[in-house]
Amino acid sequence: MLSSEEVIRRFESLRQAPRVGGGRAPHKPLLALYLLGRIQQSARAAGTPMVVPYASAEPVVSALITEFGPPGRDAHRAALPFFHLDRSVWMPEGDGLAPRHTVLRDRRAVGRFVPEVEDALRRAPALVVAIARRLLSANFPDSYAAPICEAVGLDVAAAPDEPADAPKRVRASEFRPRVLRAYDHACAFCGYDGMLCGESTLLSPVALAAAHVQWHALAGPDEVSNGLALCDLHHTLFDRGLLGIDVARRIVVSPAFSGRSEAAQRIVRDLNQRPLREPTTPCERVEEQFFGWHREQVFRAGTAA
Ligand SMILES: [Zn+2]
Repeated sequence: MLSSEEVIRRFESLRQAPRVGGGRAPHKPLLALYLLGRIQQSARAAGTPMVVPYASAEPVVSALITEFGPPGRDAHRAALPFFHLDRSVWMPEGDGLAPRHTVLRDRRAVGRFVPEVEDALRRAPALVVAIARRLLSANFPDSYAAPICEAVGLDVAAAPDEPADAPKRVRASEFRPRVLRAYDHACAFCGYDGMLCGESTLLSPVALAAAHVQWHALAGPDEVSNGLALCDLHHTLFDRGLLGIDVARRIVVSPAFSGRSEAAQRIVRDLNQRPLREPTTPCERVEEQFFGWHREQVFRAGTAA
């Protein structure tokens, strides 16, 4: 019988190590999140293994990779992770399999969790949630968690206690106040500066975030030079690659952004080619290397695949 710690350790191997330059490779974590969603929903009794046909996983996981992975247009992107997911966790089954879509499809490949892993996941539903949360926080900014969970049918709200040994980078508590101060508590894109004003003289910003340009999950530093003050809407659009910054430090709206309303025009499209609102102190401005990372790894320069 596997301990929870051992199962967590096996899934840890799917967490992408920060690469040189912080390149993204969320394919395996997205497949694993899909599988965790399946097992959370499956009501089958223990002892009946969950068998996942490639043909049913492929469209969902490929769509996840297209929507939440780095920009790109390869079709059938689920074939590689389906074949290559760590063998201590997952077993693809079928004759003469290869990590190619046509082979996996034509040979009717299926996959299943390694029995002792499946057994542990079924015994402890909280373990499924703990692993899912780790995969999410190791690969994506917070704004991705809800839409990914919705897409794979995962409920991570039932919060189990995190094991005490969980190695986690502690976010520098000074990051948020410093970034907000540098931008005078207003969105660097639209200038929104909403505050909650109480009876005291203290005002606190509302719906304004200190966003990491290079994601915190991918080794982006907690420095003002990697931070932007953004309102919640522009923060989400920036994290999802629908807003970006060009080399002349102007805002760019992705051609993948769609919205028919006058509000979408006014609140988003009209930002196109506007200059970024920069901090008055030059050393607090975002360094070009971090905008470069965002352009390469996040911004959708083409229309959605
Ligand atoms: Zn804004």
